[in-house]
Amino acid sequence: MAELLAEKVAVVTGASSGIGRAIALGFANHGASVVVADLREEPRGEGGPTHELIRDRGGTAEYVECDVTDVADLAVAVEAATTLGGIDVMVNNAGIGESTPVLEVTEADFERTMAVNAKGVFFGSQVAAREMVADGGGSIVNLSSEAGIVGVGGFVPYSASKGAVRVMSYALADALGGDGIRVNAIHPGIIETAMTTEDVPQVGTARDDQYLASIPLARFGQPSDVADAAVFLASDMSRYVTATSLVVDGGMLNTA
Ligand code: NAP
Repeated sequence: MAELLAEKVAVVTGASSGIGRAIALGFANHGASVVVADLREEPRGEGGPTHELIRDRGGTAEYVECDVTDVADLAVAVEAATTLGGIDVMVNNAGIGESTPVLEVTEADFERTMAVNAKGVFFGSQVAAREMVADGGGSIVNLSSEAGIVGVGGFVPYSASKGAVRVMSYALADALGGDGIRVNAIHPGIIETAMTTEDVPQVGTARDDQYLASIPLARFGQPSDVADAAVFLASDMSRYVTATSLVVDGGMLNTA
């Protein structure tokens, strides 16, 4: 397979588990060096740390402990990329799901969701862009959601945070395009990760058939499905693509 990311250095937040882990592994398969930035090294569920898996396969990867709500932590992750040659790609993937009924959402719930899902993406983009401006460009990929395009009544603060990610990505693309930085959003549908099996159960529940009936490709997504989209947006294959939304959902959003 062609190495679409040869000689590139990427930071992926939330890369110990789920979609972020698949993105980090996918990037490494395509030749990138990867900084795995997450709250903890061990993945949710089975398998060893992502950076160890990449190294075992002959790739280059570092783990950095990083809480994306802390701007100083984000700066440390980008600094780690500098030691690997300088950041080319930033993936702001870390996020939390919540499904509190709207009348019961507390101020703390709302602030936590916005801090991780929206503030973390903004400052992750900012610290990466400072380096990219100095180095002549790069690609920023932000994980939004279908809930960042349509309002989902069971996920109001989550929808607010993911809508913020979508329009923030367009605005960042506008602000940074002249510096050679592309910024795009990915909107996954229902992807089989701990978020959808444990935190906000959708996969493996009594409602599976109902969800699957709304997906033309008739299966839940896998993290690797999203990772391949991220490889495209990170690579020069998407050199004229910026300020856009790439929906990866098996067709759910645009069908009745
Ligand atoms: P996941 O399986 O829960 O993995 C998320 C990873 O992010 C975990 O390793 C988690 O660490 C980490 N994380 C959480 N808060 C963090 C913080 N403050 N700083 C750094 N890392 C943090 O979730 P996922 O399903 O892969 O989701 C990844 C992204 O895709 C999220 O932005 C999510 O909103 C988005 N998304 C997912 C789906 C889906 O169907 N799965 C659909 C649409 C959008 P801990 O395990 O320690 O908490």
